[in-house]
This record gives sequence, structure tokens and C-alpha cells, in this order.
Amino acid sequence: MDRNRAYTEFHGFISHCVTNTFLMTVKEKLNTRKEQLERELKSFASRNPHASGHWEAKYVDFGRSEDENAAEVALYSDNLSLEHALEKEYRDVLNALSRITAGSYGNCRYCNQPIDEKRLLARPTSSACIACKVERKKAA
Ligand SMILES: [Zn+2]
Repeated sequence: MDRNRAYTEFHGFISHCVTNTFLMTVKEKLNTRKEQLERELKSFASRNPHASGHWEAKYVDFGRSEDENAAEVALYSDNLSLEHALEKEYRDVLNALSRITAGSYGNCRYCNQPIDEKRLLARPTSSACIACKVERKKAA
């Protein structure tokens, strides 16, 4: 390889790394959140083997008395709503990670304009810019 070409490739590599610093930060945040969510979900739910990113709250059996049955159902319904909230966030995180892989991360899904980096750092799963978010809230 001649020296000029090595030089150009090296500098291309450096500038590539600089533009990727922001994405690396966001990716790290997303992966940390993904692990937290998996830990929380695992504590009371199990992965649905048929649907990736889906979980099922476990039904815990306390016993056979009416009180125990009532307590089981109450716990299960609490776990079910918690599971739905965590699972939704978990899928948002997975989607954001796959947008990074696909190279489309950081663009608004409605107007395709770049989303403010401060917004993405505060909420890395954002897929819409603030203007579009406000617009959609008004329409809803
Ligand atoms: Zn937008």
C-alpha cells in the first residue's frame, strides 16, 4: 500500500470515529437500559419464545384458600400492567438500537429531519422530533 493511500484511509477513519461519538454514547445508554429492563422483567416474567421482545408475567400460586386466590389475582394483575409498561419501553429500546444499526437513528420518523441531539441524549428512544410530537398531540 502506498503511503498516500494509507494516510487518506487513516484520516477517513479518524473523522468517521468523531461523527460516531454521539451514536456510541446513545448506544451505550440504550444497552444499559436494555439490561436493566431485562433484569426487571426477568424477576417476575418470562420471555415469550414465540415473539421477540415480548414477555409474559408469571402467575404465582400462593395456595388454595379464597384469600390466597384473591392475592394471586391481585399480584398477577399488578405484574401484568408493570410488564406491559416495561415491555413497551424494552421494545422501544430494541427499535432504537436497530435504527442505529440500520443507520437511520436520529431522524424523525414523520418529517425525516434530524432530531435535536439534546433530546436524544435525554430520551435515547425518541423517534420523532418535538415539532412532530406536538403536531400529533394536537391532532389526537
Ligand atoms: Zn419531525
